[in-house]
Amino acid sequence: MLSESVQDYLKAIYSLRHENERATTTALAARLNVTAASVTGMLKKLAELRLVLYEPYQGATLTPAGEKIALEVIRHHRLIELYLTEAMGYSWDQVHAEADRLEHAISEEFEDRISSLLGHPTVDPHGDPIPTKDGAVAASSKATLDGVAEGRRVRIERVRDENPELLREVAGLGLMPQTVVTMGHRTNDAALTVYLSDGQPRHVSIEIARNIFVVDLP
Ligand SMILES: [Zn+2]
Repeated sequence: MLSESVQDYLKAIYSLRHENERATTTALAARLNVTAASVTGMLKKLAELRLVLYEPYQGATLTPAGEKIALEVIRHHRLIELYLTEAMGYSWDQVHAEADRLEHAISEEFEDRISSLLGHPTVDPHGDPIPTKDGAVAASSKATLDGVAEGRRVRIERVRDENPELLREVAGLGLMPQTVVTMGHRTNDAALTVYLSDGQPRHVSIEIARNIFVVDLP
């Protein structure tokens, strides 16, 4: 069994690459809240374990073996988040930190039971896809609400889940995943207006809109 910290590094490299960012020493240090020196040491170790390839200017990339482990941990994380909201009454802003701790602790048996108890779900409470047991993961949208043109109708697919305050604000606005909205006229640079299906307007700051991922509707 690989240490928690190895799992966290693999997960962080996966997320950065997924967001089309380079997993450089600086980016990883910021993401994991550690020093650049510890990142360098860990990347050397991960390269020796053949979980990561490291090139100074490209940053770190996962080998197929490294990616398999990252997706396994992400599967745990997202299943636990869903279990906490569905079965234990947690709200969606409370589950990320809890899942960050528990994801390392559960066994394959436990994972299977959560998955079947929840009816083999495919998305977590924030709209993120849950990787399958054999490591397949559905593609997710990279388009965010702030980039949607006036008059376009979009479905909210997922909301970035690391910041509880952001999640509470998004929930307060009623902009949960699966909600369909139409983009209104942009009056200023700091906020935008969207309309819910019943015509109700919602004013959303650009900062919040950047964390809401959407899919274009015809
Ligand atoms: Zn999530």
